[in-house]
Amino acid sequence: MATAMSVSAVTPAAAAVARPRAMVCVPATARAPREMAEELAAAAALGADVAELRLDCLVGFAPRRDLPVILAKPRPLPALVTYRPKWEGGEYEGDDESRFEALLLAMELGAEYVDVELKVADKFMKLISGRKPDNCKLIVSSHNYESTPSSEELANLVAQIQATGADIVKIATTATEIVDVAKMFQILVHCQVPIIGLVMNDRGFISRVLCPKYGGFLTFGSLKKGKESAPAQPTAAELINLYNIRQIGPDTKVFGIIGKPVGHSKSPILHNEAFRSVGFNAVYVPFLVDDLAKFLNTYSSPDFAGFSCTIPHKEAAVRCCDEVDPIARAIGAVNTIIRRPDGKLVGYNTDYVGAISAIEDGIRASEQTDPDTSPLAGRLFVVIGAGGAGKALAYGAKEKGARVVIANRTFARAQELANLIGGPALTLADLENYHPEEGMILANTTAIGMHPNVNETPLSKQALKSYAVVFDAVYTPKETRLLREAAECGATVVSGLEMFIRQAMGQFEHFTGMPVDDYKFRAIASSLDNRNTMKPRL
Ligand code: NAP
Repeated sequence: MATAMSVSAVTPAAAAVARPRAMVCVPATARAPREMAEELAAAAALGADVAELRLDCLVGFAPRRDLPVILAKPRPLPALVTYRPKWEGGEYEGDDESRFEALLLAMELGAEYVDVELKVADKFMKLISGRKPDNCKLIVSSHNYESTPSSEELANLVAQIQATGADIVKIATTATEIVDVAKMFQILVHCQVPIIGLVMNDRGFISRVLCPKYGGFLTFGSLKKGKESAPAQPTAAELINLYNIRQIGPDTKVFGIIGKPVGHSKSPILHNEAFRSVGFNAVYVPFLVDDLAKFLNTYSSPDFAGFSCTIPHKEAAVRCCDEVDPIARAIGAVNTIIRRPDGKLVGYNTDYVGAISAIEDGIRASEQTDPDTSPLAGRLFVVIGAGGAGKALAYGAKEKGARVVIANRTFARAQELANLIGGPALTLADLENYHPEEGMILANTTAIGMHPNVNETPLSKQALKSYAVVFDAVYTPKETRLLREAAECGATVVSGLEMFIRQAMGQFEHFTGMPVDDYKFRAIASSLDNRNTMKPRL
């Protein structure tokens, strides 16, 4: 067993290629037997492969009366029967003997899989010796709700579980940081028997989506939001429809958005759909990252081929890349990282092109402009904010010949950016009465007005009357209060969604090496609002 923690040492293509594809298992956690049987049928309708019947969730469970109801045949899905005791994170509080008798009865009634905990596996094995039907597979499981042990300790755990005579090994640990998942991937790839290896918690989320790449036996997806049986479990619909889990295999490239928080991002929906539309063998996941350098050092294999970067890592990304595109370096923020075939990380900034081209096109659509020069040239361009997006907008507007003014909550940061691009700095209070000329352009690059604070706005409606064009980087909601009020004042408005789509198109080209089909990409993006139910929740 390899002990290095880096995923660069893992070769999924070699190790996992012969294994059957990972199954999607839906936990059925109903309180009543008939409802549990209905949940199993609902899981089948979702396209799941197996349902985990959590007997410990049933109220007043009587095995001889209830199991024939729950396991009645014909059954639309294979059943994995679990009767989890309190001491292993379940709800059952009784003695082991009654619990074992129920599990044995489930086997006799045709359950395809039965799960029992490692701590009592030897005792259970003695009980079922000579009585386990051939078509029933025994899963021996171990859960760690505190942490993820070292690769060596996990390897020892696998050996211990195998020694019980288990048909399938199950290990679930807890992530305290996203790099913990790399240890589980090592174990999955090298294990010689079927293995379920998952890392719980939002920082372990990628283990649930990427396990098919490393040869995991199954992954759990809830019936719907609120029905999770473990922290940060996605829904089965997300696994199947958003992450295209059926298509994930050893050769699938991994991309994703690095952020903290990252759950609000629509990038996974957009990029996965875009990859699927061109048949690109890749998956795009949310990476909830605390330490960017540690993350990039750990997930350093060529399979982790590219990343989007969002708050708060865009500036650290400049330092973590081996090479940085000159524009991204000048801006001081990287939002796209590509791993070149030689392993080197190269940083780009697609926010800059996305935002500036969206504003230019917005102006061209509403004003008579000279097609040979940028409609920003010579105009007064006020940027609110001095963070990553603020720098991208300020640098981009300056490049196009605009006269740029920076206003920011922290005035020192406004001054710093203003000095860099050679323009004046203002406080947010100054901005309320700032009206040196007509035809000004305003760009909000703070998160003010972003969901859920949709009633907030960075500038009063009165002050907005001074602007001819208003852009808002915030794109949830699509029409912010700022944009609504600016439109009411007669300004041309440009939505942050347009910037989002354009920066994502730039990323798509970097990720796939293919030219983006503008029309197709926009069609995917325009369906985002209707697909909120499939948003990953980290
Ligand atoms: P960032 O680097 O953290 O910068 C945040 C900026 O907003 C800072 O200037 C900060 O001021 C200011 N700010 C934050 N909260 C504020 C408040 N309550 N009142 C006044 N100012 C406040 O973040 P970023 O990466 O630039 O992102 C900023 C926004 O742009 C986010 O909403 C993000 O979603 C959006 N964005 C959109 C796209 C797109 O494609 N549409 C792309 C990138 C970013 P201080 O300096 O005083 O802290």
